[in-house]
Amino acid sequence: MILRGKAKAVYRGSDEDSLFIRFNDDTTAFDGEKAAVLPGKGAINAEISAFIYRYLAENGIATHLIDMVDENTALVRRAEIIMIEVIVRNIAAGGFSRKYGIAEGSPLKNTIIEFGLKDDALHDPMINESQITAIGLASADELAEMSRQANRINELLTPLFDNAGIILVDFKLEFGRYGGGIILCDEISPDSCRLWDKSTMEKLDKDRFRRDLGDVLFGYRQVLNRIKGIE
Ligand code: 5GP
Repeated sequence: MILRGKAKAVYRGSDEDSLFIRFNDDTTAFDGEKAAVLPGKGAINAEISAFIYRYLAENGIATHLIDMVDENTALVRRAEIIMIEVIVRNIAAGGFSRKYGIAEGSPLKNTIIEFGLKDDALHDPMINESQITAIGLASADELAEMSRQANRINELLTPLFDNAGIILVDFKLEFGRYGGGIILCDEISPDSCRLWDKSTMEKLDKDRFRRDLGDVLFGYRQVLNRIKGIE
């Protein structure tokens, strides 16, 4: 093992250029303050994320995913992670609603792209482009490329979820440097997105855990089955 994160562990890969990422059943919220084990979560998130990354790759987004090796484990390209979280918001919710006093569910006149510093101890504070370039976390060109890809990913995922009867409210992306360019890393799953049922507005994502809304994995299974077209 090279690194153990909150919901995933990273292992040496099949060669110098790759890593294995194992999705585990641990779930945490509020920067690790609230934690639980949800048996089966790792496999569900691994499958959702792989489904989405394959779809994005088919549509021109370079990702770290090489292949799934078992139901919890992905073989990925070994990128140098940029320590920035890119958050995309289509509807006001969560931290945005809290910070700016905008009711959750309010429509937005344009898509929001935010950057956050990837640092739990500092609670992932929002950071602007001049701050990022000033401390050397990423270049202006890299930030422009990350924003471009984030917007394109949003354009691709919004209809994917819409066809599954789900509203893509917001989500978080992480990117890494690889082969002279930037590729999508980490995961896209109900742990990193807000996903609401289009007809009932039921939350199908990690807010079920954060806000004690009941059977957490019921929501995650709904997301998996619906994007696969099973339900
Ligand atoms: P907010 O800023 O409203 O808390 O989060 C916006 C979106 O990004 C939500 O979908 C949330 O799940 C995701 N997000 C923000 N920070 C993190 C993080 O540190 N880890 C994960 N997995 N998702 C995050």
